[in-house]
Amino acid sequence: MGSLMKTSDPRSALWSSTAAPPPETPPLRGDRRVDACVIGGGFTGLSAALHLAEAGVDTVLLEAEHPGFGASGRNHGQVVPGYSKHSPDEIVAKFGAERGEAMNRWVQESAALVFDLIRRHGIDCDAVQKGWLMPAHNAERLTVAREKHDQWAARGAPVEFLSRDQTVDLTGSTHYIGAWMHRGGGNIQPLSYTRGLARAAQKAGAAIHGASPALAIERSGGSWRVTTPGGTVTAEKVVLATNAYGGGLWPALAKSVVPVRLFQSATAPLSDNIARSILPQGHSISDSRRALWSFRKDAYGRLVVGAAPLFTIGIRRSVGRIVADHIREVFPQAGEVRLEHVWDGRIAVTTDRLPHLHDVAEGLYAGLGYSGRGIAMATGMGKLLAERVQDKPLAELPVPASPVRPLPLHALTIPLARLTIAWHRWQDRG
Ligand SMILES: Cc1cc2nc3c(=O)[nH]c(=O)nc-3n(C[C@H](O)[C@H](O)[C@H](O)COP(=O)(O)OP(=O)(O)OC[C@H]3O[C@@H](n4cnc5c(N)ncnc54)[C@H](O)[C@@H]3O)c2cc1C
Repeated sequence: MGSLMKTSDPRSALWSSTAAPPPETPPLRGDRRVDACVIGGGFTGLSAALHLAEAGVDTVLLEAEHPGFGASGRNHGQVVPGYSKHSPDEIVAKFGAERGEAMNRWVQESAALVFDLIRRHGIDCDAVQKGWLMPAHNAERLTVAREKHDQWAARGAPVEFLSRDQTVDLTGSTHYIGAWMHRGGGNIQPLSYTRGLARAAQKAGAAIHGASPALAIERSGGSWRVTTPGGTVTAEKVVLATNAYGGGLWPALAKSVVPVRLFQSATAPLSDNIARSILPQGHSISDSRRALWSFRKDAYGRLVVGAAPLFTIGIRRSVGRIVADHIREVFPQAGEVRLEHVWDGRIAVTTDRLPHLHDVAEGLYAGLGYSGRGIAMATGMGKLLAERVQDKPLAELPVPASPVRPLPLHALTIPLARLTIAWHRWQDRG
């Protein structure tokens, strides 16, 4: 582990070493006037730019670093057709039958959209759509898994409830006592997917500028002027797609979510017979713990593990130890594993754990806060933002729009989130 790079350096993410080559995204030079300007080059922004360009809207995307620099290039790669916390019945209870069911359809369609875009644009990102599993490690969590399965099944979703033996067959682990599975889920190489979206958006006519941080957004006449170090973009409509990386650009938006640091690690490629015994059919799993663990393999037989550990002091040592212990517990056949990569990224968690869509001001829109489930939902949100830019009425969008609500005492929410994770880990024991 001694040679690992700093965890916050995106190059330490496994995906940087196995991704498809990046597209050319030269910095913005000079002043441009366009219909729409998208700020942020993750799934949200790139999907928005792609859908805008496909609709013939003249679009410029500005990215502070390079497409995929944020969570989109660092995540676990599980495409999940569901919310981070809620069951579909809870969504209906919260929003009513019509809006709630529209949102339930949207969250599943968003996962389908990911695989559809991959196919339609020939995106080379090791996509596997075999299904996504939520296995349970105890009886209480199995009841939760059963409820989620039953509620999605009642809506005709392609889900299955798996017995213990079926779960052992699909996971290669005797740690779990059952699972529910959504066949519409799967996994991808997330940085390659991001780069593929960027290429597709460029091909459709969008201009994508890397190394072009938006420094300020100002109203100028009936338009917005976005300033970057190398030039300006004047646009009638602007989309903010900066999620947990937005910093001071629009402070109220940044303060409306809690940025949480999540950790990932990947082993060295496993020997063929061990790799064949773990997730043998290529499924990905997020267990049903409150502080969840997730597992998948990459295209080269590495086991990729996601966790949200509490300790951030001496992180490489503590993540390495905690992850190796948990692998031993779940997949003892792996033996002593060597972690080749440890990295982190920031997600934006909302207090209601649902994605937020905002009309921030006239002609200024934002979508964020997927609370750790953003491959499908951010891709879907980008499409909605593109529709909103083209004046689709809010009432016709499946995700309800809300005012931007900065959280009081925002600085305290980060230590509070850590305490919550610690509390969840305590609840999860046994
Ligand atoms: C470690 C980890 C594991 C995860 N695992 C999963 C998973 O398995 N499945 C799943 O569904 N989701 C997962 N997620 C969540 C998912 O990755 C995110 O929800 C999703 O990537 C959010 O996409 P985004 O485009 O909204 O934001 P981001 O990808 O974070 O992109 C925001 C971009 O905005 C740019 N930016 C910020 N400020 C400016 C500015 N002023 N000017 C220009 N650009 C700017 C940033 O550089 C960044 O590239 C995970 C996240 C993390 C961190």
